[in-house]
Amino acid sequence: MTSARYDRMQYRPCGRSGLRLPALSLGLWHNFGSVDPYENARAMAVRAFDLGVTHFDLANNYGPEPGTAEETFGRILRADLHGHRDELVISTKAGYRMWPGPYGDGGSRKYLLSSLDASLRRMGVEYVDVFYHHRPDPGTPMEESLLALDQTVRQGKALYVGVSNYDAEQARAAARFLRELRTPFVLHQPKYSMFERKPEHGLLEVLREEGVGCIAFSPLAQGLLTEKYLREIPGDSRAASPHGALRREAITEERRAQLVRLNRVAAARGQSLAQMALTWVLRHEAVTSALIGASRVSQVEENVAALDHPPLSDEELAEIERVLAGEG
Ligand code: NDP
Repeated sequence: MTSARYDRMQYRPCGRSGLRLPALSLGLWHNFGSVDPYENARAMAVRAFDLGVTHFDLANNYGPEPGTAEETFGRILRADLHGHRDELVISTKAGYRMWPGPYGDGGSRKYLLSSLDASLRRMGVEYVDVFYHHRPDPGTPMEESLLALDQTVRQGKALYVGVSNYDAEQARAAARFLRELRTPFVLHQPKYSMFERKPEHGLLEVLREEGVGCIAFSPLAQGLLTEKYLREIPGDSRAASPHGALRREAITEERRAQLVRLNRVAAARGQSLAQMALTWVLRHEAVTSALIGASRVSQVEENVAALDHPPLSDEELAEIERVLAGEG
């Protein structure tokens, strides 16, 4: 492992906190489960860290089987990254179904606190850097979920807390409640890409105002915003995988036509489409980090190299808007 890893990566603040994240972070939702080859998972994580990607994002249920991505990451930590714990930002979450019965899903204090304990055991770490509530739970008062997050910090099991998939209003309420508790609430994790722009309708502004960082998940729309689906669905892609969350039906002829045009804009910049999609997400001042996934080392390398390119010009941004709006 090289010690030059910090020379090229950009580190951007999480809102008004002292925590900085790499502009690109690596998520372990796919390709790190018990069904996936360990050596490939290991190679991706180690290469990412070598390139300055200090942040690894997990959740209790990542696999498949649920929980096994945390086990895989624990194994990589012990094999390759031990001695580097203080250089890493490790996050995990709870909020989706994890075990049977009423206490294995949602946002209750009962679920969140026991889930974090189980995550720490699977990864073999004493604490995580960020613990998230994975999604709002209409069946639990939001204050209960947030007080449970606060407790994880007071227990020393999380250094910071975050929420994911909360809408703008919920995010504002969470920020205000946690500020009163003096809980270090530093991150919101929404889905954000050229094909998913909901955060632009209020959420990003709320995060900027409240001083909370934003880490955008699925910035490549699960691989759609790359060159792989321009002509067909390759057999080794997420859309073709039995474990993949990307549905074949998402790749319509209209989508393909848009991708072809976006690819032309990227090519004119000397960038791949994946790289341009990442540059696009990072253009927003509220966005701290783009949270990518990868199925092979070369994707990690290509995506990190997006940071070597200049920001998008006004003309390029306007052309992208025209493509996304389906114009001319
Ligand atoms: P992306 O949109 O980055 O999609 C990643 C996939 O795109 C890869 O697995 C790979 O799929 C393909 N890909 C990546 N780079 C390239 C490239 N350069 N060229 C061609 N194909 C490429 O993100 P994910 O959807 O994986 O989400 C990232 C992370 O976000 C997750 O791991 C998780 O940590 C987090 N997340 C959080 C959620 C939440 O509710 N909070 C929900 C979903 C994700 P292929 O197999 O086709 O090669």
